[in-house]
Amino acid sequence: MIEDKKCKKCGRILSLNRFKLHYDKRRGRSYYMGDCKHCVQEYERQYRKNTPWINAYFAARQRCNDENSVNYHNYGGKGIRCFITKNEIKELWFRDKAYFMKLPSIHRKNNDGNYTIKNCQFLEKGENTKRAHSIPVIQLTKNGEFIKLWGSVTEASRKLNLTQGRISGCALGYKHFLYTGGFKWKYRS
Ligand SMILES: [Zn+2]
Repeated sequence: MIEDKKCKKCGRILSLNRFKLHYDKRRGRSYYMGDCKHCVQEYERQYRKNTPWINAYFAARQRCNDENSVNYHNYGGKGIRCFITKNEIKELWFRDKAYFMKLPSIHRKNNDGNYTIKNCQFLEKGENTKRAHSIPVIQLTKNGEFIKLWGSVTEASRKLNLTQGRISGCALGYKHFLYTGGFKWKYRS
């Protein structure tokens, strides 16, 4: 028989499985939170709505800390650490006027640097890729032998008739883009 519990927020009496299970590292055990799942979800929704920069914060942390995240090998796997705090991200959000952007995303000015307040800025998501398209890029054979240094992804894609996104995907090391046009690509660092 599952016990019932009263939600501290909405006051409804619900069975225990309607409450969120919370694991407490310090105590080393799980307990049911005082608010039911519905109230917790509502709280999280409001929280993300009122603090729109928080998604960028969690995304950056996940890329650096979570080995299962899709792009971990480009971030945490390369030794990039996330030192930026919630308050600092908030500061950047207002400094860069990210609230005017359609798809604000956090960008590191130095691509080999960590997530710190000095190295980060909010950019429109498209700008982020535009920037990735205007950095000098190196064309290599599949065996990694140097062929040519191009001024930008845009230039290389025009001359070789390849897709920009695929070249930058290779250069950024995305799993699905090992080669494009039969070449390897790397950003000049
Ligand atoms: Zn509730």
